[in-house]
Amino acid sequence: MIADFQSYTFWLIVISLFCLLLERIIPWRQQKLLRPQWLQDVFWLAFNGYFLAVLFAPLFTGAAGLADQLFARIGWPQPSQVNLLNSQPFWMQFFVLLVVQDFIEWSVHNALHRIPALWEFHKVHHSIHDMDWIGNFRFHWMEVLIYKPAKYLPLAFMGFNYEPVLAVAVFATLVGHLNHSNVPFDYGPLKYIFNSPKMHIWHHDTELHLNSGQNFGIVLSVWDWLFGTAWMPQGQPQRLGFDGDDKFPDNLLLRMIYPASKFLMAHEESK
Ligand SMILES: [Zn+2]
Ligand SMILES: [Zn+2]
Repeated sequence: MIADFQSYTFWLIVISLFCLLLERIIPWRQQKLLRPQWLQDVFWLAFNGYFLAVLFAPLFTGAAGLADQLFARIGWPQPSQVNLLNSQPFWMQFFVLLVVQDFIEWSVHNALHRIPALWEFHKVHHSIHDMDWIGNFRFHWMEVLIYKPAKYLPLAFMGFNYEPVLAVAVFATLVGHLNHSNVPFDYGPLKYIFNSPKMHIWHHDTELHLNSGQNFGIVLSVWDWLFGTAWMPQGQPQRLGFDGDDKFPDNLLLRMIYPASKFLMAHEESK
């Protein structure tokens, strides 16, 4: 493979191999490399990490064009033309994008847990029982259709260049992969800023310790500490998953079309 440093896919592969190796060197839980559902998770990694972006690209380009037209019609500046930040230095764009994007994602993740209709889709991510790095990419395709539009307008108005956008995507993937990795660490005093394996594992606890769950942070943990949704005791949860996950399908296709598959499963049971 030719190393293309400008390609997200290249970095996704590098980070995945790094976490795979790290889990072999400093494992936290006794867990087999080829644990149950590993093959399905390879599919989720390829599908959500690569193919989904290709599949949805025309949809998002079309929606961005429509947003521009709509704003022009009501006499407002077009989001994709404003570009408040694209002449700023790389590090400034990186910092602003990371913080703004992560706060929006934290808010959306909160909503995925608090709004019952959205929680149905998010159950796919919480169906993880054996947590390791690859779990970072086990999520329902609908999540992309929720996260992307929520982020679009603020980020489009700011107008970032390709390099900081790629750098933030790579950094977020590294932290996200590590959060799910079977390795026992946090970042010491920086745990109040960055999410970590020791913190995110509690997000996957079957037991809810706060109202609608805990630790909604993606890259940054600071939002959870600020807004009172952080939960980080010593050790690790008794069981990962969610209440009622014994009725959640294991089958890939049934997960892809969940919650529609609930009706199929109910029909099968009633036969
Ligand atoms: Zn969640
Ligand atoms: Zn997770």
